[in-house]
Amino acid sequence: MDFSTEITYSAEQEKFRQEVSVWLSENAQIPAEFKIPRETGDMSHELYNWVREYRKKLGAKGWLAPLWPSEYGGGGLSVDMAQVLEEELSKRKIPAIYDNRLAAPAMMVWGTEEQKQRFLPLINKGDVITWQAFTEPEVGSDAASITTSAVRDGDDFIINGTKVYIGGPFSADYIWTTAVTDQTSPRHRNLGAFYVPADLPGISFSDMELIVNVGKRFVYYDNVRVPGEYLVGGENQGWQVAQTSLEIEHGAGGSIGEGASRDGGVVAALFDYAQTAVDGAGNPLIEDPRIRDLLVEARIETHIVELIALRNYWMFNNQKRMTFHGSQNSLLRKLLAMKLGNIVLEVAGPYAMLNDSNWAPSRGVFESHQRQAITAHHPGGSSEIQKLIMARRLGLSRSKEEAAPTKVA
Ligand SMILES: Cc1cc2nc3c(=O)[nH]c(=O)nc-3n(C[C@H](O)[C@H](O)[C@H](O)COP(=O)(O)OP(=O)(O)OC[C@H]3O[C@@H](n4cnc5c(N)ncnc54)[C@H](O)[C@@H]3O)c2cc1C
Repeated sequence: MDFSTEITYSAEQEKFRQEVSVWLSENAQIPAEFKIPRETGDMSHELYNWVREYRKKLGAKGWLAPLWPSEYGGGGLSVDMAQVLEEELSKRKIPAIYDNRLAAPAMMVWGTEEQKQRFLPLINKGDVITWQAFTEPEVGSDAASITTSAVRDGDDFIINGTKVYIGGPFSADYIWTTAVTDQTSPRHRNLGAFYVPADLPGISFSDMELIVNVGKRFVYYDNVRVPGEYLVGGENQGWQVAQTSLEIEHGAGGSIGEGASRDGGVVAALFDYAQTAVDGAGNPLIEDPRIRDLLVEARIETHIVELIALRNYWMFNNQKRMTFHGSQNSLLRKLLAMKLGNIVLEVAGPYAMLNDSNWAPSRGVFESHQRQAITAHHPGGSSEIQKLIMARRLGLSRSKEEAAPTKVA
């Protein structure tokens, strides 16, 4: 049996890697004078504009959606080539534009051909930013219980309601939103999903103050007239449509490379810290067997998440049947964030809580991670909800369910 773990690449892949690497060297260098903030909500205007332009350039090459058909703004690449691209991209620490493509997979499955032709190239080429707006002030985990309403008026819908925890640092061009279209039908058969232009009259926003600044907002809909052309899927099919977005948000599509665990560089910072800091008696931390065990644990746990993300990437893109896999990816990522938070505390002690320029290890990565580990439990559904989904799909729950439909090509 061959236990070698070395991945080998074809000559064609290596040639493409070279092309990608050269392009990224020319286009993906953030100017040295730009400060990279620990939290994306603290991004400067210069960096904001730079990231927007970079993403558009990437999109113009089809590299924001490498596996998607070129007619919908994708790169039309094979999985082998996309893998190389993802590996190279993951090596560059470019701030992501979170959330901006979650409407696309749902539109691909549920949209009309006209909607796909009109909206998918905009999304996949990075020409527009989309916020996903499902959560409401009184409704999070139980996303079917929303009260935002969409009342039909001729060919239009009039939307009223409030959404919370929405968006990110980049301003929205469209809002991907759920609303009750039918006040009389039962749960799961009473919602619509809308791709709403963010500048329609009656839409307003306000900032949220969370323990991490990732630019989250309230979104208010006040008698917003939305033409029917922005309804995606059937008038009462919004629950099913939203499930496709959530499937991808959980991680069914997987990912490749260094960013898969979304550890924000905390594991690398732990290794650096242990190699440079000393304990109270002046002994290097790295010589303490307990610290060494913790570092190994951090690396193993991170690697498990990376492998799960890689497995999903392979399954998804080879059209394997997926059930619990997306939620498993999400759950392990969320648990990892907490585990790393505990490891950081054990390794750095009270220094883990500092973010000042004199005393904070690794420029405040540890302190920021402590806060992010808590909020990371919620986006796309909390860890308890991921367990619930897994149980239903593994046949361990009273109710059974299948994964929502997804497709790229
Ligand atoms: C940083 C951040 C980013 C976010 N981004 C977005 C976004 O872009 N768009 C968007 O629409 N939403 C977003 N959200 C909202 C997120 O989806 C919700 O926070 C999440 O669905 C949980 O809802 P809730 O906060 O109302 O908690 P609740 O639903 O009130 O849950 C509270 C607690 O009860 C537990 N719980 C709830 N139901 C069950 C159950 N049936 N069984 C066991 N335990 C349960 C939960 O696990 C949680 O611990 C974001 C949230 C955060 C924190």
